[in-house]
Formats: sequence, structure tokens, C-alpha cells
Amino acid sequence: SLRISSMVKRISESQTAAVQALSKRLKDSGRRVNSALCIGEPDYQPPDVVLDAIGKAGDEGHTHYTVVQGDSELRKGICDYLRDKKGAAYDPAQVCVSNGGKQAIYQAFMAVCDPGDRVLVPTPCWVSYHDIAQLCKAQPVSITTTAEEGYLLTAAHLEQALQVDPGRCKVLVLCNPCNPTGAVLPRESLEAIAEVLRRPEFAHIYVLADEIYEQLVFDTPHVCFASLEGMQERTLLVGGFSKGFAMTGLRLGYLAARKAVAAAATKLQGQITSCASSVSQRAGLAALRSDQAEWLRERLQELREKRDYTVKRLREIPGVACPLPEGAFYAFANLSGVLWERGLSGQDFCAALLERHGVALVPGEAFHAPMSVRLSYACSMEDLQSAMDAFADCVAELR
Ligand code: PLP
Repeated sequence: SLRISSMVKRISESQTAAVQALSKRLKDSGRRVNSALCIGEPDYQPPDVVLDAIGKAGDEGHTHYTVVQGDSELRKGICDYLRDKKGAAYDPAQVCVSNGGKQAIYQAFMAVCDPGDRVLVPTPCWVSYHDIAQLCKAQPVSITTTAEEGYLLTAAHLEQALQVDPGRCKVLVLCNPCNPTGAVLPRESLEAIAEVLRRPEFAHIYVLADEIYEQLVFDTPHVCFASLEGMQERTLLVGGFSKGFAMTGLRLGYLAARKAVAAAATKLQGQITSCASSVSQRAGLAALRSDQAEWLRERLQELREKRDYTVKRLREIPGVACPLPEGAFYAFANLSGVLWERGLSGQDFCAALLERHGVALVPGEAFHAPMSVRLSYACSMEDLQSAMDAFADCVAELR
């Protein structure tokens, strides 16, 4: 009979996409659904220079393929940005521009993992690392971090994880700032992690530094992993335009890495998608060439207000814990105090919230943390307030 491959059957559908699809189905059937808090993107537009550049790109003839690796001006712009803002010196030959950060992660894993290699992923984590590792025939291994520790990976946890088959440990994932927790690893934590990795027995381990949210931090400054002593060689740095510049639909991200890894990623991309959209590349270049500091400061101020409101409302609910997120635009609420005794999980809570109150959130299961729920607060204050009212009511109903 006509079949689907076992590989595709083994991986799961992206659960954030699944929740969005379910909300859409309910909306289409006439129900009022607030799905603003389940989406991993800001509700605002990119800076004006980006919108202008999209229009101009067509007029100026930027409608053709660029080289697979990405337009050389854009790669130079990315290197200038990484040097000036992140303290990491890269050469344009070390950058591969992709259709979003997700493709950069996929190609980075594909470039360095052999079948059976272990990919260490601190959890709660972004929905796709485990599945992407599996697509590369690698073995994802979770390292649990807790709300009490502010969801920060410690050197002790890392050392423990590295005791199992260290020779097969190929990649450590550091998502910083983190989706879904909003945790930002401070310099001390990163230094402690780097110190472990500097040991000769771990010299073969790469760090996939997913820094796609690096521009979106509040009080803890973001430190680029590649800027730490001796770490650049080891770092598979993933960055992009989706979150900081609110360019999600333009699909533009990049990998910066050792030249051999960037070349391997480019070789793969040449057989998968070819270059990223030429129009998007012009828009990305415009974003980097202009000074967006003031625009970003304003967006961060709005996000800070929404974060503070969300966390305050969550902490008012007995049994709900939420460490203060220092970056990105997510709050990760731990509901163990409400759900555990009743034998419920984050998924049960989200189902009740959607069913009874018409509010869609992504359950912690999607992020390998079953007693929790993620709230994306980069939405309108109105949607946020009504969702928080419903959240509080729904917890009260479960008591
Ligand atoms: N990495 C993390 C942690 C993310 O949250 C996302 C998007 O949600 C991505 C990567 C992928 O970004 P892009 O939309 O640029 O592919």
C-alpha cells in the first residue's frame, strides 16, 4: 500500500501550530476564541525602514535568487552587528542566511550530528529541538530545569548529564533568552557552563546557542555565548530577524559558526530551499543598517508593562508559580500546585480554558514540562486582560 515514512510518523506535529489550528477551527465554527496568547510572535509591525525596503526591493530588481549562503552585503551586515553589538568577530564566510531561525537550527544539527549522537536539551524548551534532532537521527536528551532555579541550566546539572556516554554527546542546546520560560542566562551561569565545556574530555561538544530573542531582554544583559573565551569555535550561533524586528512572516534567520560548519549548512541548504527570499534579505539588511535602538526601546517598554501585568495576575492565583521572565515575550506558569493533586496536567487545563472560556494557550507538554502553561504576552492589553480573567476563573473552577 501507499505509505508515509516511519521517520515522519516518529516526529510530532509542532504543538504551537496545532493549538493555532484548533483555535481557527473553533473560530470558523462560529465560536469566539481569544488565541492572541498562544502565538510566538509580536503583534506589532516591523520598523518602517523594513516595510519601505520590502516595497523598494521589487522596484530595484531584488527578485532573483541570491547565492545560497545569502547576499554578501547582508552577511557582512550580520558580521558587523555581531562584532559591534555582541562582541563576537565573524567573517561573512562563516554565516549562512536561511529561511528563518528554524532552518538554521535544522541545518546546524544536520551539519554536525551523526546517527545516535546525543543532543542535550535543557527543558522546558522550545517545541522543535527534540524533533529536529530526531530528524537528524540524533538522540535528544532532556536536562530538567525547575521554576525554583528560575529555569536556568546549572553547571552541576550539565556535568551530571555529561556523565552518560560523554563521547556521544555532540551538542548542548542553550536557548537564551528562552522560549517558553523567558529565562535569560546571566554571564555567571554561561561562564560556569563554558568552564565545564573547556575540559579536554568535552572538547568535541558544540553549543547550539539559539539567540533568536537576544534583542528582547529587560534587566539582565544578554551575553552572546560565542563571545566567551574559547567558545566561538564550538558555538553554532543561531540568530534572526523574526522576533527582535518582528519579521516572523518574512522568514529570515542565520547560522554563524566555524567555516566548515557554515559551508556544510550552505551545502545542505543548496539541496533543500536554495537562498532565503531575496526580498526578505533586503528588508533584513535595511533593519541592520538603520539605527533601531529607539524603536526597540519603545517596544521593550510596552512588553515590560505587559510582562509585569501578566506575572502579577499569575502570582495572585494560589498554587500558580511564575519566575519573572527576563526576556522574550513569554511567561511560563507552573500550575503544579493546582493540577497535581487533581491528577490533571497542563493539557487538561488548556482544554478546560479553551472549552469553557474560549481562551487558547499552549500547554507545557509542548515544551517538555507537563504541569505548566505558556502565555505569550506580546498581544493587545485588551486580549491580555480578558485572558487573565479567564485564567483566574478557570483555576478557581478546578478547585
Ligand atoms: N528558536 C526559538 C527559540 C523560537 O522560539 C523560534 C520561533 O518561535 C525559532 C527558533 C524559529 O524562528 P523562525 O521563525 O525565525 O524560524
